[in-house]
Amino acid sequence: MLTIGVDIGGTKVSAGVVDENGAVVEQALRKTPADRPDLIAETVADVVRELAEGREIEAVGVGAAGFVDESRSVVRFAPNLAWREEPLQKKISGMVDLPVVIENDANAMAWGETRFGAGRGQSHIVCLTVGTGIGGGLVFDGALFRGHWGMAAELGHMQVVPDGRPCGCGQRGCWEQYASGNALVMEARRIAEEQPERAGVLLGLAGGKIEGEEVTEAARQGDEASLAAFATLADWLGQGMADLAAVLDPGCFIVGGGVSRASDLFLDRAREAFAERLTGRGHRPLPEIRLAELGANAGMVGAADLARQR
Ligand SMILES: [Zn+2]
Repeated sequence: MLTIGVDIGGTKVSAGVVDENGAVVEQALRKTPADRPDLIAETVADVVRELAEGREIEAVGVGAAGFVDESRSVVRFAPNLAWREEPLQKKISGMVDLPVVIENDANAMAWGETRFGAGRGQSHIVCLTVGTGIGGGLVFDGALFRGHWGMAAELGHMQVVPDGRPCGCGQRGCWEQYASGNALVMEARRIAEEQPERAGVLLGLAGGKIEGEEVTEAARQGDEASLAAFATLADWLGQGMADLAAVLDPGCFIVGGGVSRASDLFLDRAREAFAERLTGRGHRPLPEIRLAELGANAGMVGAADLARQR
């Protein structure tokens, strides 16, 4: 039986018809009406109708960045899409006449990777989406862990530095301010400003405006500042994963998200930093740190599967 998975991102809504093996049968895209969050439900309904045309669809799963309530129907708070208490499930199901399940986007991605990607065969998984921020998803005993109120698992907002850098969530010192794509760019900019002699390649490539792409490219060309920024990111990632392993004892970590496309520049060092900082090291097995396999489709495929299992 087919279901539809939808991933609502900050710039685009991507949707796909997914079969029970996680294969994407057909895909469609829409632009996210980011300045009109009240229209997002209609955009989702529109793309679902297009994909459902001429097919028998069982249900729809929708992944969205934000705090989704325990009944998986209301987005309580979505900082990037300006939603507050948005009854997304009710709105969409009213328009498409199908059962609809809403899930946090990082949870949906974790589930997609667990079922059909890097987590296959594992029952205790910590999944990290390292992009602009850090999203987290936990799988325990083979099931997605949502917490009591549905708010788990905002791993990016563990406070790792007391009174540290301000975070979009309103707190300070959150992990994602040190180990995300944004943090990588901030660090590269800082070094380039304070020690421009170490950032010759980066400054040449960026022409004044340093973004993640330039930092990655410059690092590949041996730029000292960019490599240092990646090393800092790797150390913070390793530290955070060691803390998570101390509490959760997972069998594996899965690292996905936009920054993971540059995994050759940080993942080995993150593994080393993790192993060095893990409590009880030498007396316990090391969980594997794996790269995500489903790429940009993970959230969509995960949401579709969660709709099947509703
Ligand atoms: Zn935060």
